[in-house]
Amino acid sequence: MVLTNNVNELRLLIKKSSAGNVGLVPTMGALHAGHLSLVKRAVESTSLVVVSVYVNPTQFNDKSDFSRYPRTIEADVALLQSVLRSNDIVFAPTDAEMYPEPDTRQFSFGNLEKVMEGPLRPGHFNGVGQVVSKLFKFVEPDKAFFGLKDFQQVAVIKNLVKQMGVDIEIVPCPIIREPDGLAMSSRNQLLEPKIREVAPAIYQTILKAATMFGKEEPEEIKKYVFSSLEATGLLVAEYFEIVDDVDLEVLNSNKQIDSSNKYYGCIAVQAGKIRLIDNIAMN
Ligand code: AMP
Repeated sequence: MVLTNNVNELRLLIKKSSAGNVGLVPTMGALHAGHLSLVKRAVESTSLVVVSVYVNPTQFNDKSDFSRYPRTIEADVALLQSVLRSNDIVFAPTDAEMYPEPDTRQFSFGNLEKVMEGPLRPGHFNGVGQVVSKLFKFVEPDKAFFGLKDFQQVAVIKNLVKQMGVDIEIVPCPIIREPDGLAMSSRNQLLEPKIREVAPAIYQTILKAATMFGKEEPEEIKKYVFSSLEATGLLVAEYFEIVDDVDLEVLNSNKQIDSSNKYYGCIAVQAGKIRLIDNIAMN
């Protein structure tokens, strides 16, 4: 594994490796088994892997979320060393390296940014578009690996690839969970112990919600989800929406379930000061 924080060196390392195909795994560090599952998948299916570790300021709409976001680069490098090959690259740039000039680009993702995380995190997906498009240009990967934990992000990135007109295969990877069902997240380590204890209710609730799909109206399922989390006394659902996995059209009782669609129930939860997201396949 080779570590660099420099874009020119990154390009040179990729060029010199003359790899058959290149895989990119973008991360913000504080790595856990969820991230490593993406990296392992990349190692299996490409001959050169670039893992980026960068806490991208432009995608944080909440300053305190940005400042408390865990930064653990040494531990991250040690973990990556255990799964990467000798020629694979860890790219951990500085802000000056990523943004030598302020990025004024404005992306438009249509309906994909009008639902769920979009209105609650203004500017978030624009920041994701800025950083990921830069990484795509630096690395020119054949494949890029993203976790379905960030379900809406996967749809946005697929759209970004179309907008950029680049030939990059987006590989969505399944959600990795703690033994008690909580979706792994770098933010989990910031949860207060009492809240961490009840947090598995999120997964239990959406599991039950999935069993209600097709039998109960979406509004009824939503009510169940909100009240089930309220019953913990510590978790508050921000939204629960059932959407298709391409256009992210929100399902409601006025819309027919289209059995050729794949539907996901997506949730955001306020857990003390920390915001958690999760999702589950409904059909
Ligand atoms: P992050 O560092 O949070 O930006 O995440 C980097 C990548 O890892 C994103 O594509 C995430 O969707 C993915 N990821 C984060 N947590 C998990 C998880 N529990 N299971 C699978 N992928 C994950």
